[in-house]
Amino acid sequence: MSPATDRDTVERLLRDVPDFPEPGIRFWDLTPVLADAEGLAATTRLLSAPAAAGVDAEVDVVVGIEARGFLLGAAVAQALGLGIVPVRKQGKLPAVAASRSYDLEYGSATLELPADVLAPGARVLLVDDVLATGGTAGAASELVEQCGARVVAFSVVLELPALHGRDRLGERAVHAVLER
Ligand code: AMP
Repeated sequence: MSPATDRDTVERLLRDVPDFPEPGIRFWDLTPVLADAEGLAATTRLLSAPAAAGVDAEVDVVVGIEARGFLLGAAVAQALGLGIVPVRKQGKLPAVAASRSYDLEYGSATLELPADVLAPGARVLLVDDVLATGGTAGAASELVEQCGARVVAFSVVLELPALHGRDRLGERAVHAVLER
């Protein structure tokens, strides 16, 4: 499938939910995209594109951000023939390499990177579903870099440009499949 056809597929299946999880938040739900075989295949192809075709070409490992980044990241890792490292919410990992707190579009949180799985110097493709304020992706990027690895690109299904998430990512390359 061409990237344009794949994007049409994702757009058709993407669902927005008003006032969730709080009044005034428009929540973008990828569940119907992931539940559909062609939706998952199209999303995986599009998210894999920076590593397969561009940015730096060379990626050693995928890092997926809890929780939808795990689903997407694992699919991308399989497509690229790579492994996946999870960035988890605080308190889930038995051994932690680095920890970072950050602000969300709604609320705040702490993310942690597991110990002993990300090699120093590793070239990382970071994957998540939505780029909103950029707090999550920024914190995850800093965790990766704190461990001596490098974020080659951040690949995301949906960017909300009004929230200026890219500003929190500095010079790091951002590959967004769709914008809303
Ligand atoms: P942020 O740190 O503000 O960029 O938020 C990104 C994270 O929060 C992602 O992991 C998303 O899953 C989630 N998120 C934030 N805003 C939304 C939204 N409007 N719709 C769906 N998910 C969102």
